[in-house]
Amino acid sequence: MSRKRIVAGNWKMNMTPAETVAFIAKLKPEVDGAETDVVMCVPAIDIVPAITASRGTNIVIGAQNMHYEESGAYTGEISPSMLVDAGVKCVILGHSERREYNHETDDMLNKKLKKAFEHGLTPILCCGETLKQREMDITGDFIRMQLKSDLAGISEIDVQNMVIAYEPIWAIGTGETATAEQAEEVCGLIRNCIEEMYDEDTAEMVRIIYGGSVNAGNAAQLFSQPDIDGGLIGGASLKPEFAKIVNC
Ligand code: PEP
Repeated sequence: MSRKRIVAGNWKMNMTPAETVAFIAKLKPEVDGAETDVVMCVPAIDIVPAITASRGTNIVIGAQNMHYEESGAYTGEISPSMLVDAGVKCVILGHSERREYNHETDDMLNKKLKKAFEHGLTPILCCGETLKQREMDITGDFIRMQLKSDLAGISEIDVQNMVIAYEPIWAIGTGETATAEQAEEVCGLIRNCIEEMYDEDTAEMVRIIYGGSVNAGNAAQLFSQPDIDGGLIGGASLKPEFAKIVNC
């Protein structure tokens, strides 16, 4: 079974609406005809201009977060129907920065995932260990625990259509990339965990990507691993280098 590769950018808290329009205009011809799915997850305020600027192209616009309630007194939050109405197709959930700075728990993420599926959004669920956990040799146990909590009660059909991003926290924004072997080992472990939780077909179909200091120099080696179906790109998604990663 062949899985279509996906390269998703995560702009984090970068780019104004005007910068968004200019960046997408330059990116369009560079990724036109790419063999991978191309996604750019932009700040909430950039969603509408990004969707307008990318209309008619192969660039899919995603969000970086979403609340699990439909509406209500949640100042500063964004609801699933707001994203869908704007034309968003996918949403990053559980990025380690949100887990750390916004205190997102696995329980909240489980609710967010269910809401995303209910609204037809494709979640990109992030998981990954700290340096301390890696040194303590509990990476596998920790990631299994994250997946079991985050995916509790979610059907195999939904899991088949989602994306799981393995993002070791020690590699995010640090310039220290996991080696292709390290990344493959954990992405393989994630696939095994999905097989244990669901079945072989689901494990074969779910797309598992790697994120953590991916750049144009290391992407090809990482993405050529059998269990790595693409990447989640932070810093390099803000540069023309992103197109090189998509086409690598
Ligand atoms: C990320 O924020 O998801 C990420 C992978 O960042 P970077 O590529 O900058 O390490």
